[in-house]
Amino acid sequence: MLAQRLPSLLPPLGPRELLDVSMIASVAGELSEGRLSARRPFRAPHHSASMAAMVGGGQRARPGEVSLAHHGVLFLDELPEFTPAVLDSLRQPIETGESVIARANHRVTYPAAFQLVAAMNPCRCGMAGEPGHQCARGPRCVSDYQARLSGPLLDRIDLRVDVPAVTALDLIQPGPSEDSVTVRARVEAARLLQSRRYEALGLPAGTTNARCPPDRLEQAAAPDQAGVALLRDAAERMRLSARAYHRVLKVARTIADLAGAETIGRPHLAEALSYRSLPERLQAA
Ligand SMILES: [Zn+2]
Repeated sequence: MLAQRLPSLLPPLGPRELLDVSMIASVAGELSEGRLSARRPFRAPHHSASMAAMVGGGQRARPGEVSLAHHGVLFLDELPEFTPAVLDSLRQPIETGESVIARANHRVTYPAAFQLVAAMNPCRCGMAGEPGHQCARGPRCVSDYQARLSGPLLDRIDLRVDVPAVTALDLIQPGPSEDSVTVRARVEAARLLQSRRYEALGLPAGTTNARCPPDRLEQAAAPDQAGVALLRDAAERMRLSARAYHRVLKVARTIADLAGAETIGRPHLAEALSYRSLPERLQAA
């Protein structure tokens, strides 16, 4: 449900983005009734999806789900149930924002810059970590299931959030919450800030922190001194790869943008780093 709501928190598609999205839909033969919507795409392929369905291919080199989710959200429910080859094929588009389909003597490239949202249970039976529960298969229930996700794929997932089961009481007494309109205003303000920042650095309008090329990151996301110290410490302790290090910086830049802070400080980095680790109860042995 949270994933499905995400597009409603994102700013509507700009004219250029709208054109991209409708061109892909048209090539894929999915332009329904010729109507265009400024709503960002939301795609949720089933875990039985083939590689061609996911990243594009087939006889006519049709765009896949990653391209149909361009400028929007790609939601993969029950992530470990996807075949390892399909999950591996996501790495390139996540990294480059494009999907390349190789043919005998040419290549077809489709745009594929999406936000990936994935959901999974901690183990195959789905109960690990629940108070008082012991998996029938023991600790292997967790470790075997989580081993289905490769390190390189996990390295590209920036925010890992533990969502505990909802109890009846949570539904009876909902906590204080913000509505989508309020949150979207904050997201729009942060996106505008990013667009202006990257335009000033010579990048196209609409560039987000996520799409900031590595060589501009130092200018765009330089933390203050306390932040640098924390990051250096964490990089060693958490054994961050170079990629993960860059990704933490981008998340911290976004957290600072949402808070309207010019400089990335220690709290922004601490929050960004906290999203990279899973709670201990869900970690595979
Ligand atoms: Zn289990």
